[in-house]
Amino acid sequence: MHEFFKVKKVSEVLSEIKQFESLPKERVFLLEALGRFLAEDLSSPEDLPPFSRATMDGYAVSAKDTFGARETEPVILKVIGEILMGEKPRFSLRPGEAARIATGGMLPEGADAVVMVEYTEENLGLVEIKKPVAPYENIIQQGEDFKKGQIVFARGTKITPAVIGVMAGLGITNIPVRKKPRVAILSTGDELIPPEKPIEPGKIRDINSYSLFAAIKEAGGEPKIYGIVPDVAEELFERLKVAFEENDVVLISGGSSVGTRDYTLKAISQLPGAQLICHGVAVKPGKPTILGKVQEKAIFGLPGQVASALLIFYLMVRPLLLHLQGANEKHLFLKKILAYAERNIPSAPGREDYIRVKLTPFEKGFTATPIFKKSGLISSMAEADGFLRIPESSEGIYEGELAEVFLLP
Ligand code: AMP
Ligand code: MG
Repeated sequence: MHEFFKVKKVSEVLSEIKQFESLPKERVFLLEALGRFLAEDLSSPEDLPPFSRATMDGYAVSAKDTFGARETEPVILKVIGEILMGEKPRFSLRPGEAARIATGGMLPEGADAVVMVEYTEENLGLVEIKKPVAPYENIIQQGEDFKKGQIVFARGTKITPAVIGVMAGLGITNIPVRKKPRVAILSTGDELIPPEKPIEPGKIRDINSYSLFAAIKEAGGEPKIYGIVPDVAEELFERLKVAFEENDVVLISGGSSVGTRDYTLKAISQLPGAQLICHGVAVKPGKPTILGKVQEKAIFGLPGQVASALLIFYLMVRPLLLHLQGANEKHLFLKKILAYAERNIPSAPGREDYIRVKLTPFEKGFTATPIFKKSGLISSMAEADGFLRIPESSEGIYEGELAEVFLLP
């Protein structure tokens, strides 16, 4: 048995991950941009909204004409016309005048507020105003969302439905993003067979190719399964070479430990110019994790244990994929909450522990119930809502104590 010879802390591996160069830029149509990250600062080509608009049905007025208006002593204004939706008013207001307007209508020159129709009564070309309005009441001013020339979103911003809405509102349809990382998945192990084949004695079905494929998609990558590789060093190297050429990131599942049939480290080291970032990470589960860097491409050796493989994916691979897409730092990691431990959770110091937990809401927040199942059981992941983190220096979490829980996407 050999030893892991370059064990790093999770935080050390993460800072290495941020040293990888982001992928090249490309431009995509607005609707293809959802979930991606802006590759450039975006400034506003025009005011949004482009003109001051009513937010209520009623009468466009000059606010100062309505001061002192009361139910019993209404102010009377002259109605000079109606503002048509989607059109510029053909008149401007002079003192003592009002114009009918609907929600979304364009305020005429001379108006700075809208009186709601509920507080008015129109008769023979005159309107009684029964309640005063303040300037800018019941309107959205020109440029109130965004002013022409201002930075609307900084690069690295995640493109959410609301961000898409802003860009549509500003007429920006050609969006600068970074290319999606192409990610290869190789699963190693003589015991593996694909899910579509009947099961055979001694064999288990390949889970990791599929769970990792799905996780890569969620993280914005373009996964490609390179199939099952037997535990033969030369075959792994040959398959890795092809996957490496065709992708930005390669994930090798299994064979990352220090057993006699573990060839992942050897295969990665054989690629020309390979730099080994870590061989072993001080984390449980997931210690047998390898990260190599070859010409700005990352090659991970992930643990074969099905829960560990996914955990390490979320802890290290997902942040890398998001970083390659140009995501702002705050988007790299899973969102986390504080939750109350439902029972004592012991931990050995000297490594970080990530405990799969179920979350249950109660009036003060959430309780986190640990799922004490082996990391070879995929059910432990399927049942989990998140991972509770026990820091390296800690010997565990007491029942009722607050702990960080990373939420699974
Ligand atoms: P390894 O990391 O290759 O030593 O594998 C550790 C354990 O995970 C072994 O029990 C393997 O059979 C299992 N394993 C490895 N790869 C996969 C996979 N793709 N799907 C399901 N189980 C796997
Ligand atoms: Mg194996």
